[in-house]
Amino acid sequence: GCLHRAFTEGVQEKTMEDGVAAMAASYEGFDPAAYLQYNYTAPRADFTRRDSTVSWKLGCLHRAFTEGDISGGLLVDVGSGPTLYQVLSGCEIFERLVLTDFLEVNRRELKRWLQDQGKSSLDWTPYLQHVCKLEGRGALAWSEKASRLRAVVSDVLPIDVHRPQPLAPGALPSPGADCLVSCFCLESVSPDLDAFTRALGHIGGLLRPKGHLILIGALGESFYQGGPGVQIPVVPLDEAQVCSSLKQNGFTLMRLEVYVLPDDMRVGVDDVSGIFFVKARKE
Ligand code: SAM
Repeated sequence: GCLHRAFTEGVQEKTMEDGVAAMAASYEGFDPAAYLQYNYTAPRADFTRRDSTVSWKLGCLHRAFTEGDISGGLLVDVGSGPTLYQVLSGCEIFERLVLTDFLEVNRRELKRWLQDQGKSSLDWTPYLQHVCKLEGRGALAWSEKASRLRAVVSDVLPIDVHRPQPLAPGALPSPGADCLVSCFCLESVSPDLDAFTRALGHIGGLLRPKGHLILIGALGESFYQGGPGVQIPVVPLDEAQVCSSLKQNGFTLMRLEVYVLPDDMRVGVDDVSGIFFVKARKE
């Protein structure tokens, strides 16, 4: 019995490792500029429409960071990719911000913008302007926000959410981050729901007790385009599964919101049907 169990567990572990390795392989052709083009230009980023994907996401993030219950010294964004929209609200209330991604091409894209080398694949100005508008600030405040963001980002670090310690040892101060943001990462790097739940536990380890988690992700998605001809598999999630994964990892759900993609935002670069927004607290 024991031997059989040891064998079965060994096989399961092997299968899990294979799944994770296959995911890493599917990221080899990831093209930051194409990904930005697919997801962060119109129609998905149409700032004149409140129901565009990006307007909805920025609205949720703005609310989460202005409700008054989130504060502290260190904000960590998990799986930043080549994007900055997810930290435009949070950068105002934290002293230090750490961006992270698995891929060097994405870390390089972020560093190009941070170092203001003028060679970014996407112009973030309309994003900065939109978030300043949400904050009730004037037309010129966007460049102050850009400076603020460049000033508070202390590092752009490699991360692997499938490792029990996703960051290099000593990368964060010992109590952990005060707040984590993670958008469209865990479900699009995990081979199945178990791996998603495990990865959520791994990133939870980066957060101090009572720290906040802002998690945004895809619902009902089975793939997305990471570049021309690059199809990346995704774990299709529903709200109940997201809630259960949070609970299993010791998170208390504070808010869950769901966005259903309008038909004209279904542009063929993925098969996402909706987006969830979660604000939770680590117990
Ligand atoms: N956060 C960005 C956004 O909201 O658009 C990017 C999300 S993108 C769908 C998924 C990101 O996960 C990619 O940037 C990819 O490089 C990163 N990634 C891939 N494998 C990963 C891993 N094992 N651990 C952490 N991140 C990973």
